[in-house]
Amino acid sequence: MTVKQNFQKVQALIQAACQRTNRNPESIHIVAVTKYVSIEKAQETVEAGIVHLGENRIEEGLDKWNAIGDNVSWHFIGNLQSKKVKKMIHAFDYIHSLDRLSLAKELQRRLGDERKVKCFVQVNVTGEETKSGIDPKDVLSFIEELKAFSSIEIVGLMTMAPYVEDTESLRPAFKHLRELKEKVEEKKWPHAPCHELSMGMSNDYEIAVEEGATFVRIGSSLVGKDK
Ligand SMILES: *Cc1c(COP(=O)(O)O)cnc(C)c1O
Repeated sequence: MTVKQNFQKVQALIQAACQRTNRNPESIHIVAVTKYVSIEKAQETVEAGIVHLGENRIEEGLDKWNAIGDNVSWHFIGNLQSKKVKKMIHAFDYIHSLDRLSLAKELQRRLGDERKVKCFVQVNVTGEETKSGIDPKDVLSFIEELKAFSSIEIVGLMTMAPYVEDTESLRPAFKHLRELKEKVEEKKWPHAPCHELSMGMSNDYEIAVEEGATFVRIGSSLVGKDK
């Protein structure tokens, strides 16, 4: 299957999930996760009409950014070490893994007062010990603290669910993230509009869309998995 064919299939399944839940498919952005594939495959992805690319490794992400450029939006979806911020911040439009104050401080230091980066706060809604992300009970206080950081805009919340066969069992976790997002929205904090939900991967994006995802991060079932 080509990326284009996979893209059409993903779009059709998202459309069906939207129909089941009365959502507008245009509110859902597909981030193609190209971490498993070559620069050429990432280029094919852009040619297929996909405008958001996601990477979790800095070197490989920058290689692709250098080849493809700024005609698409770049999403950093992996764990981000503070010491690596300097190297990558010019290339990425979105960071999906903001999960600690020390990282916010480093982003602010590197961006200064002139530039902004769109961030998702990563939340561990499934409570797995191995997963990164902050505890749901700390979300409001963490985001409130971020108002001091002029270069950070909190566009939404992100979560990464575990791989399970029974994807229906993930529904409560996605719903929980949506409810947390609504709590942040209600605060109407200028630095944190928080209208977006980054949730759903190859295995579980249909359920995530049914529960309100606005950014789905899809790798293997969209661009394939070469490495
Ligand atoms: C790899 C990855 C994805 C995509 O995974 P697939 O299951 O291949 O769709 C999405 N989000 C994050 C944070 C990832 O690391």
